[in-house]
Amino acid sequence: TARVRPTGNAKRQIPGVRNVIAVTSGKGGVGKSTISINLALALLRRGARVGLLDCDIFGPSIPDLVGINRPVRALGDQTFAPHQAYGMNVMSMGFLLDGDQAATMRGPMLHRFVQQFLFNVAWGDLDYLVLDLPPGTGDVQLSLTQETPISAGVVVTTPQEAALRDARKGIEMFRQVNVPVLGFIENMSYYKCGKCDKEHHIFQSGGGQKLADEYGLPLLARIPLDPKINEDGGEGVPVLIREKEGDYVHAFGNLAGRVAAE
Ligand code: ADP
Repeated sequence: TARVRPTGNAKRQIPGVRNVIAVTSGKGGVGKSTISINLALALLRRGARVGLLDCDIFGPSIPDLVGINRPVRALGDQTFAPHQAYGMNVMSMGFLLDGDQAATMRGPMLHRFVQQFLFNVAWGDLDYLVLDLPPGTGDVQLSLTQETPISAGVVVTTPQEAALRDARKGIEMFRQVNVPVLGFIENMSYYKCGKCDKEHHIFQSGGGQKLADEYGLPLLARIPLDPKINEDGGEGVPVLIREKEGDYVHAFGNLAGRVAAE
């Protein structure tokens, strides 16, 4: 299959966008999209102007997370008007496809979509554009990092050994393409039963910290496994919208603070 080749072109800044934050994970299902959207919302709560780009061309999940499934409007000059969700500009491949239609494409076409999402979307003036990268270390990730400067990357993992192995690939990918890595986020870290104060470790424990120590980078957040996080009944209402205070507001607020401090 066709691979994305380095273009040799200089990276281009996205007009109006001050910082691009990339969220990656070694593998799918660890909660990368959930973390991306709540990080974006936490940045918004700090008063920043924020956009969210779902870079998963083959399995876009942001549309469901924001509860929007209608197509975006094409503007005259081949640009798209992003959707507005909770005060953020949001774009996803899911806003271009019909229902359960799947994207099938090879490297060069993928590359063009990535370019379009970065440069042919009317993002407006943004302090942060949060990129929810697809899992793994494939063409889309490479393509993105070749096209535009990424201010910082964060790696989402779960505590299990297998997830850590994949998270290492994520960090190596960032390093290879010279994206400064801010640190790790451990998701599904523990479970609180509500009957006691203990952190119950459903998976292994300490994985995120181990990874952080190994790379000399901070563990930026530990988010518990909690039905509250996906309790919106499929309505697309993220936990940071449902809750105005409490643990998650605090945890994601801290995370956003650390991202903003970079
Ligand atoms: P990824 O983007 O890594 O594939 P998602 O963010 O789509 O993962 O999350 C996968 C599933 O796990 C979703 O159903 C999501 O609601 C759920 N989920 C994510 N994080 C948590 C958590 N901390 N507690 C409970 N459920 C979670």
